[in-house]
Amino acid sequence: MSDQFQPQTALVLFSGGQDSTTCLAWALTRFARVETLGFDYGQRHAIELACRDRLLDGVAALRADWAQKLGDNHTLAIPTLSEISETALTRDVAIEMGADGLPNTFVPGRNLVFLTFAAALAYRRGIADIVGGMCETDYSGYPDCRDESLRALREALTLGMARPFELHTPLMWLSKAATWQLAHDLGGSGLVDLIREHSHTCYLGERGARHDWGFGCGECPACSLRAKGWREHVAGK
Ligand code: ZN
Repeated sequence: MSDQFQPQTALVLFSGGQDSTTCLAWALTRFARVETLGFDYGQRHAIELACRDRLLDGVAALRADWAQKLGDNHTLAIPTLSEISETALTRDVAIEMGADGLPNTFVPGRNLVFLTFAAALAYRRGIADIVGGMCETDYSGYPDCRDESLRALREALTLGMARPFELHTPLMWLSKAATWQLAHDLGGSGLVDLIREHSHTCYLGERGARHDWGFGCGECPACSLRAKGWREHVAGK
């Protein structure tokens, strides 16, 4: 698959979670240079952003060629998102499912905003390839994670910025178990251990309890998906 890409620079949406860390490794095996981007939107799990530096250091320590390829690590603040959201990601309320079948952690259109800012930054950096961990297999039903939404957005960004962007979503059709396996294929047990130890997925921003799949509350939808995927991965499913 790698030979369909030119050895150029990619911008990876890098939140410090399991999925985006796997995407970072994916990009490092396919591009000559990789820059990273995280968003600070006032989420109460700002701990995820703090995980980013440890993960970047860890990824660089895994392989010398990865260390050479890693470029600038950007952070963009989008405080407006927390003004719009009434969800558990940004306010001190419990996570629950809404009548529409979506958890109240859903920030409408969040990934569309992220990718549009990412494309604007990529434009300035002369980058055409953007990589994100969006997935519609084991996901919480966010419509802006769907492949159809992202294909439409890619078209809009390409037209609206007159720049032929590619949006790479290597996890789109993978289960969480397959995402753990992909991390192993890309970076061996060293990468898997790094993700378990330092990536952050929990909606509640908890680091306290250490499970075999990593840190987190173990109860929220994000922890549940991550734990289920880990069990299936270990079982070889
Ligand atoms: Zn959790």
